[in-house]
This record gives sequence, structure tokens and C-alpha cells, in this order.
Amino acid sequence: MLSYKNIFKVVLVLFTVLTSSNLFSRELSEISKIRIINISEGARLIVESDKPIKYEVFSLKNPSRLVVDLAKIKFSDDFSLPPNKGIVKEVRFGSFNNDISRIVFDLNKPLKNIKTKLLKPSSGKKRMLYIELEVNKVILSTKTDNKKKTFQQSKLSKKRRTIIIDPGHGGKDPGTSYQGKLNEKDIVLNFSKVLKEKLINDGYRVFLTREIDKFIKLNDRVEFARKKGADLFISIHADASKKDNVRGFSVYTLSEKKMDKEAEKVANLENKGSVFSRKGLIGINLTQSRNIIEDWQIKQAFKRANRSSFEFAEILVNNVKKKSKLLNRPHRYAGFAVLKSPNYPSVLVELGFITNNKDRNNLRSKNWQSILANKFVDAINENYK
Ligand SMILES: [Zn+2]
Repeated sequence: MLSYKNIFKVVLVLFTVLTSSNLFSRELSEISKIRIINISEGARLIVESDKPIKYEVFSLKNPSRLVVDLAKIKFSDDFSLPPNKGIVKEVRFGSFNNDISRIVFDLNKPLKNIKTKLLKPSSGKKRMLYIELEVNKVILSTKTDNKKKTFQQSKLSKKRRTIIIDPGHGGKDPGTSYQGKLNEKDIVLNFSKVLKEKLINDGYRVFLTREIDKFIKLNDRVEFARKKGADLFISIHADASKKDNVRGFSVYTLSEKKMDKEAEKVANLENKGSVFSRKGLIGINLTQSRNIIEDWQIKQAFKRANRSSFEFAEILVNNVKKKSKLLNRPHRYAGFAVLKSPNYPSVLVELGFITNNKDRNNLRSKNWQSILANKFVDAINENYK
């Protein structure tokens, strides 16, 4: 558990109070309905609102999903998510923060193409956001399939991925603890070592931000990952609760709002080279004069990293749920300092609750650590499939 989680909660509550004032809610677009219509190519999604909506739509693979981010909206009182239909297996809220509402459509076929169109109302009517989904209907012949696989495999073998595992806390900072006997810092270091060994056996380059019981500053952990050329950063923690019946695994990625703030901070930095690694520099030319560096390029780098973090978090939750109990709403969003890099995707996992009997026994069990670590390896492999 991280101590500044509570600060985040306070800020969130404060923001909720502010935004629910009349002044603010007048600016929000009200979403009254989302419809799914089957069409021969796949599906058409129609989002109805009373004002223009700022939106962003993107797709994720394995499993196939469509993510629709809607900015500054509220839902009408009688709003409910549409029932599953055609290629749409499930519709769910991916997140709720006050700026962005994320809706995730789980699909039963891979997406080939997405088209969006925002239609203006003819007098008095609702505005409609059309999202047209075209799915891959043609089944690839085995021959093409094989060819594709070989290509991907050879691509993978050429490049060894670098995974940074970050055991939380350490040294003078024990993290959360149970009756002073069991400390988070020890649990997460044990698990990180098990995970490291398994990943190395699978061909990854793996580094731990700490191998021993030692205090390391949060910024130094991020800096370490940047220097090692991280492809993925996983911070490992264990949770605690005042209620001893609360249990389960959860994973955090950076919230959109925090991401925007970080991008802004970097855009104002004199020496941006101290933040970006070579990987994060795609599309950003730091050798040119400062004025030429477009802020949006910096934002894009953050967005890329954040999108990959979101995707990996979803894959991880899917794999872990086969073996471990999940916390309610297992994929969450926060502003943890170790998640703020534009260079690589990063997630923070809470393995379970040290304050719950069942979770605590699991956290201490070598066997459980090994089983859970296997699920992490599966998720990482799937992420690079
Ligand atoms: Zn922690």
C-alpha cells in the first residue's frame, strides 16, 4: 500500500464536490442512450447526447475490445448500458473520473476498422455519435496463419524485452504490516524474486529496482527503469484495510487527468532529455530548438505509454482472475509517482490484503507466489503476442 493513496482520495472527493456544483454541470453533455445495431460488417454503436461530445475511440487486441472515452459528460437519470448484441459480448464502465468516462465494449471478433462520425441535430433532436465497427470476417487460411506466426516469432526472438520489477517500499519504509510481524516490503521482495526467475527462464531481461531490504526513493525507481531501457514496469505492493474481510488482487494505471498534468509538466521543462529515454522519443526531436518541440508530441508520448499500460493491466487482470480472487473493480486508476513515465507502460499491482486471513496465508505461501507469478508471465507473454 502506498501512503499517498489517501491524498488522492481526498483530492478526488474534493473534485467531485466542485464538479457537482451547478456552474460545472451546465457544461457537461448529458448522455441519454447508447444503442448497438447489428450491421453486415459488424456493429454500429450510437451514443446520444444533448451537446457536442469530446470523444476518443481506440481498439485493443487479445481479447478484442473497443474503448470509448467520453470527456466531460454525465449520464441521464434513466441511462443504462445497452444489452449485449451481435459482436458485442459485454459492455462495461472501464473507469470513472470526472473528466473522462471510459466505456469498454468486449467483442467476440477482432476489429478491422473503426469509423466515427458526430452528427449535428436536425432541429430539437439529440446529437448522435456514430461508431461503426468493421470486424474481420474472413477466416485466414492455415497457411497465412502460419506465416504470420513465424514472422511474429522471429520478430520477438530478435528483440529481448526488458521488464523492470519494482518491489515497493524497503529499508526504513516497511509499507503496510500485520501485527508488526509481517511486512509488505518483505512480501513484495519475495514475490518479485520468484517472478524475476520465471521471466528470465522465459527469455526476458529482468531487473529489480531493489534486490535487498533497502530504501529507494520513488524517483530513483523511475530513473532506474529509464536507464535500463524498460519495455514494461511493474510495481509490486500488498494492500491493507481496516476491514479484515476485504481481500483480492488489484492493478492500478495512471489516471488520464494525472497523465495530462505530467505531460504539461514535461512540456514546461527546460531539459526534456532528462525525462525521455530513446524509446519515449518517437516523434519528438529534442535536438531542435525548444519552440519547435510541440507540446502535443509530448502528450502523445504519455498517451502511448498510458494506453499500453491500460492494455497490459486488462490482460493481467484476465490472467490473474483464473487463479486468484480479485478485488471489486480490479483495474483502478491513480496518480502514483512510479507510474508517471512517458517511456514505457507501467502498472502498480496490489497482490492482496495483508489484513485478510486468506490473502495473508496466500501471500506467505511459496506455492501461491509461484502460481501467481506464472499468471504474470502468461500475461506478459500475451502482451507481446
Ligand atoms: Zn505499498
